[in-house]
Amino acid sequence: MGVILRMRLLDIRYQFPMVIQRLMRGVVFRGDISQRNVYITFDDGPVPQVTPALLDLLDVYGVKATFFCVGENVQRYPDLARKVMQRGHTLACHTYHHLRGWSVSTTDYLNDVALAEQTMRSVLGPGWNNTRLFRPPHGRMTWPQYRALRATHRIVLWDVLTHDYDAAHYSAKRIHSLVQRLVREGSIITFHDSVKAQPVMLDAVEKTITTLQQSGYSFLRL
Ligand SMILES: [Zn+2]
Repeated sequence: MGVILRMRLLDIRYQFPMVIQRLMRGVVFRGDISQRNVYITFDDGPVPQVTPALLDLLDVYGVKATFFCVGENVQRYPDLARKVMQRGHTLACHTYHHLRGWSVSTTDYLNDVALAEQTMRSVLGPGWNNTRLFRPPHGRMTWPQYRALRATHRIVLWDVLTHDYDAAHYSAKRIHSLVQRLVREGSIITFHDSVKAQPVMLDAVEKTITTLQQSGYSFLRL
């Protein structure tokens, strides 16, 4: 009698290899894994072309989410940023200029994070609970940037990256099936409320929510 090994095939396009997860101590890839919880997250907003429709969709299904905002967008669309907060979602930092960590110095990177948080504080006011969550754009930072931010923030990456920003190759249907294949207890799933993701994101999110709710998953904020 052979032993059946149930292996979970990992695809690095969508998930971080375990060795990276071990190396990046303190980085959050999954939330609470003790129950059927998932965490839906949106990067790069808020933008008027996409975010209002997304908020309405999330309300229809009673889902609360986490928005990793670009400071520049919060500055440009303050009413929209406040609306995201008023609708009960978590707003967290994704740098001010959507910086690619590998292309700038540690000092410039940290200053950009600080500027984003200062902007969010002034736009969102005392109602904003800065949870010190931080997600690096493109999931990339240099080692010194990571070490510096780890001391002051909870760095959040993801368990499932949906590629919704690549609408030419990822249809809503394809995203939905990849989420279905990879999701597990505590998964942090990354979408984008950006113009680039607009053609597929809303449809992909709706399909994802309905399927996961039917499978007994609850949606939590970080
Ligand atoms: Zn981003």
